[in-house]
Amino acid sequence: MSELPVLRFAPSPNGYLHLGHALSARVGRQLAQKLRGKFLVRIEDIDQGRTREAFVSAIFEDLEWLGLTWDPRILRQSQETPIYQRAAAHLHKLNLLYPCFATRSEIAITATAGGRDPQRDPDGAIVYPGLHRGMQQQEVERRITAGEQPAMRIRMDAAMELATKRLGGRPLTFRELHPNGEIETIEAQPHRWGDAIIQRKDFPASYHLAVVVDDARQGITHVTRGQDLFAATDIHRLLQVLLDLPEPIYHHHRLLVDANGNKLSKSSGARSLRDLRNTGWTPAQVLEAINDTHQNSRDFPVSSR
Ligand code: GLU
Repeated sequence: MSELPVLRFAPSPNGYLHLGHALSARVGRQLAQKLRGKFLVRIEDIDQGRTREAFVSAIFEDLEWLGLTWDPRILRQSQETPIYQRAAAHLHKLNLLYPCFATRSEIAITATAGGRDPQRDPDGAIVYPGLHRGMQQQEVERRITAGEQPAMRIRMDAAMELATKRLGGRPLTFRELHPNGEIETIEAQPHRWGDAIIQRKDFPASYHLAVVVDDARQGITHVTRGQDLFAATDIHRLLQVLLDLPEPIYHHHRLLVDANGNKLSKSSGARSLRDLRNTGWTPAQVLEAINDTHQNSRDFPVSSR
């Protein structure tokens, strides 16, 4: 590969980091080291309602405590709104976005009308049943004048059609790097997400748009992140083709689970790294806890940091 490898850890500061984050950061750092590349930290703070400055500063404190090092240039998504607006404008010009005012409950009511079992996306959320897809411009303007703020959704059928055309009829795929060095080509299936949100009501990007725009402009060559984001790669690859952005290699690492087999998360009560530290844990114990002796070789271990 001629380009310099660049990797990143991209936490959302809406809670303190837990062991799952420590694993994610370590996987990225290790692969960066193995490839002799750079390792960046990106603060994904587009959800302003849940972001706390204390969580942002804690991210750096916790990573430092763990002994990880990173490139000093930090990107904060909340400060990058014009960049996302420009990317969204490009999709607008292609006529691939439309406004949607629907609330979660309106979507649920429509999708389950008549006792129907709604279609679900890979995250288990109801697939948008299209309720505002054909809304007249006049009605859109009336609602905006009345103070309603729309989200922007992608016309999935049209987007896939255009992407397929750009790919010369070849399927949309992504490359998944496995720890043994093998790179598997996987077919992306964006359709299963339906008309996904590309711009939130309260921010000019959704997670999907922000992540592909930033991975591209930060020159990320290898996206390392948890297996829980594997299916989201469908939409990321679609957006990369539509926005003419480079295709990184992906590595979705194993997830840490609790005693009930659920993914560690703040909502499921995972203890934060700072809580562990306050009760006497050392960084070595954290690294030991996220190691899986059976799976160790799956995390790109290197002999020294
Ligand atoms: N900000 C996302 C999270 O904390 C990760 C995004 C990504 O790595 O693509 O789950």
